[in-house]
Amino acid sequence: MERTILHCDCNSFYASVETLLDPTLAEGPSAVCGDPESRHGIILAKNEQAKAFGVQTAETIWQAKRKCPDLRLVAPHREEYVKYSRRCNELYLQYTDLVDPFGIDESFLDVTGSMHLFGTGEQIADELRRRMREEVGLTISVGVSFNRAFAKLGSDYKKPDATTVFSRENFRERVWPLPANTLLYVGRRAAARLDQLGVHTIGDLAACDPAFLHGIFGKLGDTLLRYARGEDDEPVRSFYAEREVKSVGNSMTFAHNLLGEEECRMGLTALCDNVGRRLRARGMVCQTVQIGIRDPEFHNRSRQMTLERPTNATRVLFETSLALLRAHWPMDKPVRLLSVTAAGLLPESQSCEQLSLFDSPQQAQTRQKQRQLDATVDALRQRFGNRSVIFANSVRKPKENEKKDEKEP
Ligand SMILES: [Mg+2]
Repeated sequence: MERTILHCDCNSFYASVETLLDPTLAEGPSAVCGDPESRHGIILAKNEQAKAFGVQTAETIWQAKRKCPDLRLVAPHREEYVKYSRRCNELYLQYTDLVDPFGIDESFLDVTGSMHLFGTGEQIADELRRRMREEVGLTISVGVSFNRAFAKLGSDYKKPDATTVFSRENFRERVWPLPANTLLYVGRRAAARLDQLGVHTIGDLAACDPAFLHGIFGKLGDTLLRYARGEDDEPVRSFYAEREVKSVGNSMTFAHNLLGEEECRMGLTALCDNVGRRLRARGMVCQTVQIGIRDPEFHNRSRQMTLERPTNATRVLFETSLALLRAHWPMDKPVRLLSVTAAGLLPESQSCEQLSLFDSPQQAQTRQKQRQLDATVDALRQRFGNRSVIFANSVRKPKENEKKDEKEP
C-alpha cells in the first residue's frame, strides 16, 4: 500500500520560542546566543530581521554586532525548547501514533492509516500548520510524500509555514533537480566526493550505477541511491515504541567493602569507564544516569539523575555518579556493591546535536577534549586490549564479581 508520510519542521525554532516568551523581541533584530556577556559568544539562532542584516548562525557576537549594532541578544532557555518540542509532538500524536522525532524541532509522521479520518496528506499538513500557529504559536513547514527522504526534502523546500507535496507523479521534475547535498544523510564529506564525481543533483545520483556507488561509499552508497530513486522504505516508528536498547549498565561486588570517598571514586571510575565505552561502541548517548549501592547487610539503594544534555563521555558519567553518591550515601558507611546504569538511550546522531551549539567556547573546548580522550582510549583498547589503558584511580583493581547488564525489550 502506498504510504503517506509527513515531515514537520519548526521554522526558526529557538528564535520563535524566545519570541513567544518575550514578544518585544519581534520588534527588531534579535538573536539567541550562548553567552550574551562575552564578545566571543556564538550566535545560535536569529530572527528574520537579524537575518536581513546578514547575521549568521555560528558566528561570534562580535562579528554579528559589527553588521547589526542594534542586535538584541538573549540567552537560550533550554527547558522551554524541550517543553515546546513536546507540545509539537502532542499535536502530531492527535493524528497518528507513528510520530518519530528527528531532532528537537522536527518529526516524521506516517498518516497512511488516518487519512480516512482526516483527509489527504496535504489536507492534514495544512491543518497541522494552522493548528500549530493558532494553538502553539509556532510555524512549521511540512513535506508530504510517499517516503521519508522526500518528505524531509519537502519541509525544506518552502519556508516558513508552507506545505510541499512530492508525489510519485511529480518527483522527477521537482526532486531530481535539487542539489545532491540536500538529500538525507548526505554529509559534507559525501557531498564533496559526489561533486568530484560529477554528481551534482539528486537526479544525477538516481542515475548512478549501484555497483559504482557501492564501491565508493559502501553501504551508504546503497542507501543514498535508494533515497534518490524514491525507494526509501524505512518505516516511521511509533512514538511509543521501545527504542532498541533501553539501558547499558555495569555492577561490581567488591572483594573487600569500599569505605570512604576515595575508594568509592575508584569503583565508580572503573564502572563508568566500562559503561561509557559500551555506549560509544554502540553510537548511543544516555539521558539518565543511575547508580545502585548495596551495603554489607544487603540493603539496596538506587538513585538517578537526568542530564542536562545526553552524553557518552566517561568523565560526565563519572562526575554525575559521584554527585549522586555524595548526595545519597554517607561516606562513612561501607559499600559492598556499586552499579552504574546509563538509561534513556538515544542514537548519538539524533541526540539534538543542535544543543551543542549552546556551549560557551570553553564548554565546547572541554567537551571536545573529552571526546578526543575517550576516542583515543577506545582506539588503544581496540588495538591492544581492554587492560591496555587503566585510569589512575582504578589501578587497585577492586573486582571480584563484575556484571554487565543490557536490557533489551
Ligand atoms: Mg527547524
